[in-house]
Amino acid sequence: MDLASVQNEIERVIVTEEQLQKRLKEIALQIEADYKDQDLILVGVLKGAVMVMADLSRHINRHLDMDWMAVSSYGSGTKSSGVVRILKDLDKDITGRNVLIIEDIVDTGLTLDWLSTNLKSRGAKSVEIMTVLRKPESATVDVKVKYVGFDIPKDFVIGYGLDFNEKYRNLPFIGVLAKHMYE
Ligand code: IMP
Ligand code: MG
Repeated sequence: MDLASVQNEIERVIVTEEQLQKRLKEIALQIEADYKDQDLILVGVLKGAVMVMADLSRHINRHLDMDWMAVSSYGSGTKSSGVVRILKDLDKDITGRNVLIIEDIVDTGLTLDWLSTNLKSRGAKSVEIMTVLRKPESATVDVKVKYVGFDIPKDFVIGYGLDFNEKYRNLPFIGVLAKHMYE
C-alpha cells in the first residue's frame, strides 16, 4: 500500500522504503561477518517481523534456518502490558544453536527481555537480537540488542509489519500514526 492511500492517517513518514532497504543490506553484511562459518537460525516474531524477515534474509548470502514464534504483549491498544504469552512456539529444537531473534520494534523491551531469556533457557548456544526499530526513551528494561535498524522517538508508529489494530502492516515505509486515529 502506498503513501497516498494513508495520507490522512499518518502524521509523517519517519523511515522511507529506501532507507529501510539500505540499512537492512548493511545489517545483512554484518550478520554474514559475525556468523562466518557458524550455524545460524533466524527466529522471527510474528506477525510484526514478517516483512523484515523476508527482506533481511534475502540480503544474507549464506545458508540459514528460519523459524517463527508468536507472542502477545499488547492486546489491542497502544500500550505494552508486560505480560507475555506464547501463542505459537518454535517448530524446531534450538539446543546448541546460534539463534538470532528478528523483531519489528523494541519499545519497553519487556517482550524481548522475556523472549531472549526464554530461548536461552532452552540451551541455545547463543541468543542475539535484531530489530528494525528501537525507542530508547521507552526502555523500561535494558535488553542487549546486537543489530538495530533505526532509533526513533517514542511516538506510536505503523507500517513495514507494525500494526494498529492489525492494519497498516502492508506499508513499505514506517510512519507515525496520526493522533486523531486513536485519541
Ligand atoms: P515492548 O514489549 O514494549 O518492547 O513491545 C513489543 C511489541 O509491542 C512489539 O513487538 C510491537 O508488536 C508492539 N509495539 C511497540 N511499539 C509499537 C509501535 O509504535 N507501533 C506498533 N507496535 C508497537
Ligand atoms: Mg512484535
